Amino acid sequence: MEDYLCEALSQACSECHLQGGCCFEARPPLSQERIDILRENGVSLDAVEFAGYKRLCLKQDGFCVLFQDGKCSIHSVKPETCVAGPFTFDIVDGVLQIFLKRESICPMVRFLKANRQAYDGLFETSVERIMHLVDSIPEEEMAEILKIDEPETDLVAEITLPEKR
Ligand code: SF4
Repeated sequence: MEDYLCEALSQACSECHLQGGCCFEARPPLSQERIDILRENGVSLDAVEFAGYKRLCLKQDGFCVLFQDGKCSIHSVKPETCVAGPFTFDIVDGVLQIFLKRESICPMVRFLKANRQAYDGLFETSVERIMHLVDSIPEEEMAEILKIDEPETDLVAEITLPEKR
């Protein structure tokens, strides 16, 4: 994605009245590859837990363990689902379904809907990151991840996954 679009999206994020709302009660799933990247960037293994799949822990205040001083402390290497931001996913019968959160829970969505170029840029990046995550996580862990409900989202795309995934 173009740098200026990344900056515009970061700006939209920083103006969020929910103040890090997407990092509240967020336990992003982690592939072993992502854990290795986080470790290389100084994140302790104490930040990771296993609950049917590997994920980041929560702090006592309910925010992600890596949410510090009002923002993500590992922005440049954050997990795939965090990059995908307001886009989320499910897999049904070998089809990757992409959902977009509603404006009521993510103010960035209004910005995306008003800026086609930003929407397309983030959509492309999100699908690429999500597909990488799907490829990187063991099937049994992905089955657990897919049990997580994503309320207040709308289906925006369906992509048939290659067989074997
Ligand atoms: S890794 Fe960063 S962006 Fe993702 S939930 Fe944690 S603090 Fe938020």
